[in-house]
Amino acid sequence: MRVYIISTVLVEIVVQRLTSWELIMTPNEYQLQAMSTAVYPVNHGKAYAVIGLCNEAGEVAGKFKKYLRDGVAYAVIQQQIQDELGDVLWYVASVATEFDLSLASIMEGNLQKLADRKTRGVIGGSGDNR
Ligand SMILES: [Mg+2]
Repeated sequence: MRVYIISTVLVEIVVQRLTSWELIMTPNEYQLQAMSTAVYPVNHGKAYAVIGLCNEAGEVAGKFKKYLRDGVAYAVIQQQIQDELGDVLWYVASVATEFDLSLASIMEGNLQKLADRKTRGVIGGSGDNR
């Protein structure tokens, strides 16, 4: 079993990169603001959002694939990944909204699930219900 440990140094680096704006925007505020730009057919809202999320996740993979193939500068791929993750995030908010969920509740639930798995020593492995 592989064990991945995120160091406190890495966490500190991420926190240092956060701007004050990022620190004050809540997940649900992002969700509301993101959905103010949603323009898609309401009769196919769930399908549109789920397909869009898969498409944007694929774009992250595509940019990274081209980074491996072409060896572009790190700053270039870093910006591309940021842009595509933003698109992924928008669609996560969209899927959440379509299923009457809040980003904050999703984030909290996910962290609780992972903390529970860590406590029980089942972070590794597979299966949704471990
Ligand atoms: Mg995109």
